[in-house]
Amino acid sequence: MKIFSSLSLFVLIGTCATQKYTTKIKNIKDSIQLVDSTLIIKYANTITTDEFSKHLYTYASDDFEGRKTGEPGQKKAVEFLKTYYINENIESAYGDDNYFQTIPADFFSNTNIKSSENVLAFIEGSEKPDEIIIVSAHLDHLGISDDGHINYGADDDGSGTVALMEMAQAFTMAKKDGYGPKRSILFLHLTAEEIGKRGSEYYVQNPVFPLENTIANLNIDMIGRVDDIHKNNKNYIYLIGSDRLSKELHYISEKVNNAYFNIDLDYRYNVEGEKNRYYSRSDHYNFAKNGIPVIFYFNGEHNDYHLPTDTPDKIEYELLKKRTKLIFATTWQLANQEHTLVTDENNELLK
Ligand SMILES: [Zn+2]
Repeated sequence: MKIFSSLSLFVLIGTCATQKYTTKIKNIKDSIQLVDSTLIIKYANTITTDEFSKHLYTYASDDFEGRKTGEPGQKKAVEFLKTYYINENIESAYGDDNYFQTIPADFFSNTNIKSSENVLAFIEGSEKPDEIIIVSAHLDHLGISDDGHINYGADDDGSGTVALMEMAQAFTMAKKDGYGPKRSILFLHLTAEEIGKRGSEYYVQNPVFPLENTIANLNIDMIGRVDDIHKNNKNYIYLIGSDRLSKELHYISEKVNNAYFNIDLDYRYNVEGEKNRYYSRSDHYNFAKNGIPVIFYFNGEHNDYHLPTDTPDKIEYELLKKRTKLIFATTWQLANQEHTLVTDENNELLK
């Protein structure tokens, strides 16, 4: 299967009078120095399939009733996350034992949606604590269908949820050993994605850390399954948005993958004008709209998408682990590389 690339597009249109665009891109690629290879592998390897399945069989169980925004199942989900972070000694973004950003019911105007919560766990950077990398996944799902079936949402987005939990744990282990991130990392579990990305909309309107200091958002929405296109090559993940605001982010992501994982990064849904419009369909979009470079990680739709049959037994745990490790390593690079990630607007190498 041919992998489409949006890169060829900007190579073609980007020619400049002073220096060829291809040369500028090459300079960006050459400027990226991977950091801490040994440490990245060591702590990425603390992420295990056993923990994924343990968490996911709870998170996508009957008990959580499909996690509909504002409903009792969603409240169980946020309590579950809070308890996890407390037990793991991972701090809240508020510096106390409140992990919730409460969204009042008013915000969901003209609906019968009740108040809801984003969950924010935080690891403060050791050298540049004001610079924030946000790793996000939505915590809500569709709830119970009219016919009484629970929409378990194991992939959507239980997979992203447990990925955040495991990454936060791995970064915390590193920190205990003296290898904490230089920049800060916010693990942001967003509510109300399924009703229009409202949790991320609320966050960008009420950011806990200034958006101008938020250097990137890596958003995960469904990374535990395989779509029909990739039945015969499961070693893939769709990346959407990575080159839109920061070519440097795009090439960091590629370089990290090439160095450690060799996953097929499939960009077909990143093509401008692509009919599914995934770039605007999950929470990262609210960050991108604010000029923050994003990567959206996604396995594509499958036969159980938005159905009660999206259950934890169908998750490909080895794949979920490998994809999470890629996101972990990319986050580590962004948090620890010498210079701060730049947007194309501010990139001297593109001038
Ligand atoms: Zn989703």
